[in-house]
Amino acid sequence: MILRDRELLPLARIAQIAQDRSVHRAFGWFHLHEPRLRAWQKECVAIPAPPFGEATRAAWFVDRMNELGLANVHIDAAGNALGLLHEDDGTSPVVLLSAHLDTVFAAETELDIREDESLLIGPGISDNGAGLAALLAIAAAMRHAEIDPAANILFAANTGEEAEGDLRGMRHLFKGSPFASRICGSLALEGAGNETVVTRALGSRRFRVEITGPGGHAWTDSALPNPIVILAQAISELAALKLPSRPRTTLNIGEIRGGTSVTSVPQSASATFDIRSTDANQILSLEVRLYRAVEDAMLAIPRSHRETLKATITLIGDRPAGELAPNSRLLASIHAADRHLRLRTEERLGSTDANIPLSLGREAVAIGAGGLAGGVHTTNEWHDTRGRDLALRRVLLVLLDLCGYAGINAAECDERS
Ligand SMILES: [Zn+2]
Repeated sequence: MILRDRELLPLARIAQIAQDRSVHRAFGWFHLHEPRLRAWQKECVAIPAPPFGEATRAAWFVDRMNELGLANVHIDAAGNALGLLHEDDGTSPVVLLSAHLDTVFAAETELDIREDESLLIGPGISDNGAGLAALLAIAAAMRHAEIDPAANILFAANTGEEAEGDLRGMRHLFKGSPFASRICGSLALEGAGNETVVTRALGSRRFRVEITGPGGHAWTDSALPNPIVILAQAISELAALKLPSRPRTTLNIGEIRGGTSVTSVPQSASATFDIRSTDANQILSLEVRLYRAVEDAMLAIPRSHRETLKATITLIGDRPAGELAPNSRLLASIHAADRHLRLRTEERLGSTDANIPLSLGREAVAIGAGGLAGGVHTTNEWHDTRGRDLALRRVLLVLLDLCGYAGINAAECDERS
């Protein structure tokens, strides 16, 4: 009997999907193809992908997606490598499965990938080599097992997740791309882990403040306003603020630059500010305080001199906050898949590609791509890939539950914007 009850309990939905014969074939594919996954992972991670330099790795992905027989494979306007599970009408809902291409490492970093028994070692091997390998694994296993869910799947190896990238690949997918209004639910494969899932998106806004003035000689122009002093005043006003611990909110002053020499009144001074909070309102109010602190420091300068000064505040990073609703279909689905696989769900707070959909009220998580990892963001990064097929089974079950499969209806696609 095929159950078509929309209210079918999550555990029953997952059990029904897991019983399906094609799903079993996909699970078998994961189990048998670990050497294939390791080979893909090593090959992919050996291609440099610094922020804003992901094109070669994206092109490699396009080749793999074509080999796997995905449809409509292309690079989009943001440099994302995209492919669909099968051709479609161009308007129906899709579920997004993504993994970011970029690393934190500069282009000249030596990408020497080594193997030591079950370990893979090298920069970016788990973040996000693990996610990228899992993306190909899910596509390959679904193609092999001829799994055809109700909603199509958009596979994306996306750009711009790490620091300066400012989530531009994801931002484009949800705001500018022709897929933007079609995406119902998304899973971002992120690093290692069999039980991890990021359900709360840590928001951040980053600014550069620059004060410029005429500058001059330390002795003869000593009456001129000093940009370093003005900036220092703004910084000390901000540093004295009491920030809430609930919702946790932080302000970091990360860099400071300025001046020419010890004997000059500086012509400019600048500093960068990183504001983070689990609550978007806290970010906004701290941003207002930043503007006010700069204004206060400028107003402290006599009017006659103020005209020669300029303060510029530039937004240099913006990661919106958000949270997956506790009663969402996606969260219920993850918990059910984890119970089915006897995993303990580890819900986390993080700053990931899921920030963009979560901030738009869409159902999304970042999810572990399997195995264990350490040394992330260092050149000694390692990934122990043992047991990753468990994580791949988990991702496939959740994905199929979102898409609708084996008599299960697709997740409702509400709050499309
Ligand atoms: Zn990452």
